Amino acid sequence: YDKKKVVILGGGYAGLMTAVTLQKKVHPSRIEIYLVNKNDYHYFTTKVHEAGAGTVNPESIKLPIQELIDSKRVTFIQDEVTGLDIERKRVICKNQTLSYDYVVVGIGGTPKTFNIRGLEEHAFFLFNWEGTYRLRKHIEEKFQEFSRLRTGKLNLVIGGTGFTGMEFIHELTNSIPMLCKRFKVVPNDVNIIVVEPNQGILQGFPEAIVSDAVNSLRKTIIEYKVGLQVRSVEDRKVILEDGTEIPTDTFIWAGGVMGNPLLDGLGFELLDGRVKLNEFCEVPGCHDVFVIGDASVSLNEKGKPYPPTAQIAIQQGQYCAYNMAMKIYGQPAKPFHYIHRGTVMSLGKGNATGTVYDHHISGHFAALMKWMIEMRYCFMLGGLPLVRKQWKN
Ligand code: FAD
Repeated sequence: YDKKKVVILGGGYAGLMTAVTLQKKVHPSRIEIYLVNKNDYHYFTTKVHEAGAGTVNPESIKLPIQELIDSKRVTFIQDEVTGLDIERKRVICKNQTLSYDYVVVGIGGTPKTFNIRGLEEHAFFLFNWEGTYRLRKHIEEKFQEFSRLRTGKLNLVIGGTGFTGMEFIHELTNSIPMLCKRFKVVPNDVNIIVVEPNQGILQGFPEAIVSDAVNSLRKTIIEYKVGLQVRSVEDRKVILEDGTEIPTDTFIWAGGVMGNPLLDGLGFELLDGRVKLNEFCEVPGCHDVFVIGDASVSLNEKGKPYPPTAQIAIQQGQYCAYNMAMKIYGQPAKPFHYIHRGTVMSLGKGNATGTVYDHHISGHFAALMKWMIEMRYCFMLGGLPLVRKQWKN
């Protein structure tokens, strides 16, 4: 048999899960596996809001990729992908070009910016490890500066009250008292201002989740500006569509995720920049190109897109490895079937809300469930040793 060369792009939930599953599923005589990621670490995206708000140490949500893969089976390449040549079956990176028989694209999405003027330059994004690390440092600097100057108010403005925005706001309510104590700032001088273009928060979420999320913030004074779009963002202010100007040095944007611009212009069919797939997680008409995770879009039975989640990215990664094994061993693959187990949203320390198999859960029990979901992922990725390591965090 000729050995097939599989190149996996992105060491996030989707790409890494493909690599660790594939290294077990296909005999080394039949496959060469390469994993390309721009950093040498994997990070728990589902915990970046905690690292950003400062309630967990950012280092604790980062894992070296080399420790997660079997380096005898998977060659890790730290490089940035800059393009894809589907015709010639090549991946173009900053420092090299790689040929492939099969390519798995798991490079994630990009934040949705809705062409808001000044957003990219002046906002912080709850998106990747580097961004949240910068945010955490920035918030600390602002508290330090405020305690020195003591003029006006310290305004933290959050744009977007979807899943990510709400998780972050709750995390902030835990970290602000600690920051006030540390930097000797009076809590009443710190304002949390939330801007949401829709009429209500957590649009599209079940009523029970929305009310848990709102109730747990009841004791915190938050200024809500709902039903208003952000018009532009400047150095020290956010301007809303009705002309309201909100002074701030810290604007955190949580306006959702869209596809990755690297996949534009390749002739793939896109929905919100995310690649539409066939039932085998392949790009229709390209049986050697898989796109998984946030870079792609999967539709439910009603034809509506599933939201981009780690849950779907992990299942696609596992499926992709299975499908590739079937191709290599000349067997027909069954189509991908997503199992939606539920959604659990953290509401700060020891509190969460969500649905698991359509049952509503909340409070400590939901927080425990969220922790178990994280541990399950660690087990799938690195077995008991990784669970033991993360247990302490
Ligand atoms: P990513 O995890 O974004 O990984 C992409 C990888 O590709 C990264 O390692 C990146 O460095 C790398 N990369 C990107 N571009 C390049 C390039 N050009 N070259 C090389 N490498 C590149 N989902 C849930 O299911 N449950 C939750 O509770 C949950 N909570 C969340 C909380 C927050 C605050 C956020 C932001 C997201 C949350 N999500 C949650 C969503 C989830 O994190 C994403 O859906 C998931 O990370 C998608 O996985 P992915 O592998 O497609 O992309």
